Amino acid sequence: CRYRVHVCGGTGCTSSGSLRIIEKLEQEIKANGLEEDVEIVKTGCFGLCALGPIMIVHPEGSFYSMVKEEDIPEIVSEHLKNGNVVKRLLYEETTKTEHILPLEETNFYKKQHRVALRNCGEISPEHIEEYIGVGGYEALGKVLTEMTPEQVIQLITDSGLRGRGGAGFPTGLKWKFAAANQADQKYVCCNADEGDPGAFMDRSVLEGDPHAVLEAMTIAGYAIGATQGYIYVRAEYPIAVQRLEIAISQSRELGLLGDDIFGTGFKFDIGLRLGAGAFVCGEETALMTSIEGNRGEPRPRPPFPALKGLFQKPTILNNVETYANIPQIILNGPEWFASMGTEKSKGTKVFALGGKIHNTGLVEIPMGTTLREIVEEIGGGVPGGKKFKAAQTGGPSGGCIPAEHLDVPIDYDNLLAIGSMMGSGGLIVMDEDNCMVDIAKFFLEFTVDESCGKCTPCRIGTRRMLEILEKITKGQATMEDLDKLEELCYHLKSNSLCALGQTAPNPVISTLRYFRDEYIAHIVDKK
Ligand code: SF4
Repeated sequence: CRYRVHVCGGTGCTSSGSLRIIEKLEQEIKANGLEEDVEIVKTGCFGLCALGPIMIVHPEGSFYSMVKEEDIPEIVSEHLKNGNVVKRLLYEETTKTEHILPLEETNFYKKQHRVALRNCGEISPEHIEEYIGVGGYEALGKVLTEMTPEQVIQLITDSGLRGRGGAGFPTGLKWKFAAANQADQKYVCCNADEGDPGAFMDRSVLEGDPHAVLEAMTIAGYAIGATQGYIYVRAEYPIAVQRLEIAISQSRELGLLGDDIFGTGFKFDIGLRLGAGAFVCGEETALMTSIEGNRGEPRPRPPFPALKGLFQKPTILNNVETYANIPQIILNGPEWFASMGTEKSKGTKVFALGGKIHNTGLVEIPMGTTLREIVEEIGGGVPGGKKFKAAQTGGPSGGCIPAEHLDVPIDYDNLLAIGSMMGSGGLIVMDEDNCMVDIAKFFLEFTVDESCGKCTPCRIGTRRMLEILEKITKGQATMEDLDKLEELCYHLKSNSLCALGQTAPNPVISTLRYFRDEYIAHIVDKK
């Protein structure tokens, strides 16, 4: 084929019409007799969701953005038939110089470094041979034929990889604990129950590169001595679910899952379990309870999953992005991974950029990049000439980062020190028009809805907190109410059973820390 046309088939571009674009492309290619010259590839997300539907024509890498059906005849007849790039339809930033700028030199991409997202937008996620063609399953082959389980765990430990689901627990250590516990059955679980408002990192990895997660889970199974894995994925992610189903069946067909992987005698298989929309099922013990077929409620820890997890057997649970890093760490070595990032947070992190920002979408940056670089350079700044006010990371468990901390290098520890948290990667930007009490109220409404009700501090406490926030925003509160709100924050943090309740006050605590004047203005001015 002369041309390979990548069209984003992720949720963002699909909802802005990319499937119709593909249909129209097929029609026009046929009408122009170009079937032998052009291959259309439906890929995962390229990241620049704000400019979807997106299409990239290779080998040149011409990046067409906001493509409409009526643009297709011209792209086909001019570019794919006559070799003339249709400059007026290209992503504007690539056309600002005399020569068309390569995508990796644009502001959105030049500070990014794609490890977890490396294949998203590059391959067809529905064809295993494309994954294999870019080195897929080589890491698994290497692990099974050249390494002992102990060496795998040591390699992951040496890389410094920490869990990308939010808490940042060292992945190698988690695997080591589970490997040390003897049992007739162990499990490897993948948390794909991404539920934070504004977060879609895991969805994009699953839609764009599902085999990377399957490969990594199989490697984890070998490392800890497990033969069965489960991916717990939101039913609200139908494209991700469908691609996982295709990927699992293709892997089984090629003997990359099953009874005798790579002819080594190693046995491992993966099943899918769909979540029914409860945010609390992203909490590890609730997730496992749900896989067991029971109501998804957290259970006390200890015992921790590494000792008694799924079906009371030793289990490791990592999130999608954590797994997506594993094959590359195996292939490139722990030093390569540890060379990126900060002293205590190695590698890269994927963020879903949303809110008051030009380039909403998905970005992957080396740890240590500043929020200013993300917002002003990669994100293209705040629209309408408005002033940046704060960014919320970590969703309902996280906090806000005000303008005074724009230059803090992002890593697990720095974000905690300024009262926020890495979380799974949702990053919502707010401008001068946003009321920070409203933001806190929004997240409390969410946690009230999502509290499972098992323990009193969270079930009742989140409701009382929300009532006070409603009084404040209606101009009906007193300073005593504000004191009560703060008291409740600390009560919930120290007495709730699981992380949902323990972290639910964080949006209130951090907005009080940086924007207390806004709370007081509502109380004093009575509005
Ligand atoms: Fe359920 Fe909330 Fe208690 Fe967690 S903290 S167990 S979500 S009631």
